[in-house]
Amino acid sequence: MSVKATTKYIWFNGEMVPWNEAKVHVMTHALHYGTSVFEGLRFYKTPNGTIIFRLREHMQRLLNSAHIYRINIPYTLDELCEACCKTVRENGIEAGYIRPLAFIGDVGLGVKPPADAKIEVIIGVVPWGAYLGEEGMKKGVAVGVSSWNRLAPNTIPTGAKAGGNYLSSLLISNEAKQNGYTEGIALDVQGFLAEGSGENVFLIKDGVIYTAPITCSLLPGITRDCVMKLAKDLGIEVREERIPREALYLADEVFMTGSAAEITPVSSVDGLSVGCGARGPITEKLQNAFFGLFNGKTEDKWNWLYPVNK
Ligand code: PMP
Repeated sequence: MSVKATTKYIWFNGEMVPWNEAKVHVMTHALHYGTSVFEGLRFYKTPNGTIIFRLREHMQRLLNSAHIYRINIPYTLDELCEACCKTVRENGIEAGYIRPLAFIGDVGLGVKPPADAKIEVIIGVVPWGAYLGEEGMKKGVAVGVSSWNRLAPNTIPTGAKAGGNYLSSLLISNEAKQNGYTEGIALDVQGFLAEGSGENVFLIKDGVIYTAPITCSLLPGITRDCVMKLAKDLGIEVREERIPREALYLADEVFMTGSAAEITPVSSVDGLSVGCGARGPITEKLQNAFFGLFNGKTEDKWNWLYPVNK
């Protein structure tokens, strides 16, 4: 689930810096107070060259996350998109994962940074295979419902992808691992399904796809949006509804989505088999539609593929 890879360069405040020289000071504000916002997105090799998947939407979400925290990223949407393309190009890899991160740097101690604090921005790229394992993509993974709830509304916003939110994700995934599961799923403070530690969750019952609405303490995932659009395109009904825990046990199929996790089937929840205990037919259909975007089998009707060489 984690990757330790090294590539040639990190884009660091507009410069291409050799990987080993891209460093920050230990008094970095973000290290002390979690004051960072970030993105995670994939680039794929396609018959028409390397593309970044939904680049503009990811960079817009980065700017939105920063806006919530009054973090002024000193780059425009277009500049951030070009910076991602450049980082992919200059590292010379054809497929992998991109990590753009904006954070408050070494601006002195105290939670409230000075008004003129410069915001640091980095973009790293790494080669990265299936987040929850190659086998999991076919057979499904075992998940457990966490004893930790996802962040309550009006505490730390789950609609922002901020560094600090991932303390909640760490608790959820640590517990899942401790209990022998590949991933943990959290409920919101009302007890309804929220999300995985780094994925949105879908379930299928009687041919209808259900997913929790964004009011249930979750990140509005970009892959979640893709799946909803691909499903509609395939003529499958999608409903955004509050989902009680037991619906996961009674579902015909469950799967999780994320830029890292892509579309990962779930084979069991809390040790109870989901459906036939393996990848279900609708999940497989959606995986085929999704991965078809990158081998040319699914038409990119939505303009989601952003070429790194324009
Ligand atoms: N929820 C959380 C907590 C996440 O970290 C992610 C991964 N970014 C997602 C959902 C899925 O979002 P996306 O599909 O945009 O990657």
